Amino acid sequence: PTTHFGFKSVPAEQKVAMVADVFHSVAAKYDIMNDVMSMGIHRLWKRFTIDCSGVRPGQQVLDLAGGTGDIAALFSKRVGPSGKVVLADINESMLNVGRDKLRDLGIINNIEFVQANAEALPFTDNSFDIISIGFGLRNVTDKDAALRSMFRVLKPGGRLLVLEFSKPTHDWLSKAYDVYSFRLLPFMGQLIANDKESYQYLAESIRMHPDQETLKQMMVEAGFAEVTYHNLTGGIVALHRGYKF
Ligand code: SAM
Repeated sequence: PTTHFGFKSVPAEQKVAMVADVFHSVAAKYDIMNDVMSMGIHRLWKRFTIDCSGVRPGQQVLDLAGGTGDIAALFSKRVGPSGKVVLADINESMLNVGRDKLRDLGIINNIEFVQANAEALPFTDNSFDIISIGFGLRNVTDKDAALRSMFRVLKPGGRLLVLEFSKPTHDWLSKAYDVYSFRLLPFMGQLIANDKESYQYLAESIRMHPDQETLKQMMVEAGFAEVTYHNLTGGIVALHRGYKF
């Protein structure tokens, strides 16, 4: 089977290796690039995600495709010493940057790091109260398999939060965003991280990702109930939420 790596059509097995190369390559500069590219707004999107999670002290949270750990860090404070956050990511370089960063922030006691593929999660059924995946799903080759895997490891009553780039709701914003992502983003990637190709892939992968309604439908098909979404920054990003009943 073939899939997309940005705009390119590639064999599915090849995408995994190509995505791995992108994140090995961007890991060291990932945080600074995020701040520059989003002008710091990614922090607000992430905080909004935690606020919509309904997380409580003592809960078990899985932050999938957790990368450098921003979302996991916010959850760690909210679940407290009696709870646990598992930061899972397929990429060792991203996990290493995340582990070092959270250790520097003093977040050590209620966090675990696991190298795992979202498509086949190495956890037992019904393990987590909350699963979050932030800017991760679009990099996953078989998104349906990943959503089914998340459904399986979520506890009944638990919720999934998918924070991801989506489709701007206004034409003018869509056009401005095109210019930004296809011209400015690779240029900044070159300037700051000396890596134009990775940022070109990121821009293309954003464009290829399912829009709000399509992703909602995919979540429903994976078994999630009461799926809703909230557009952020004019739909540049959307937060989808669904429950396992
Ligand atoms: N969640 C973090 C954030 O919001 O800053 C990191 C997002 S980063 C854009 C995407 C992450 O998805 C990378 O760390 C990458 O390694 C991870 N990833 C890609 N494919 C994956 C897969 N199949 N399973 C788990 N993680 C994956």
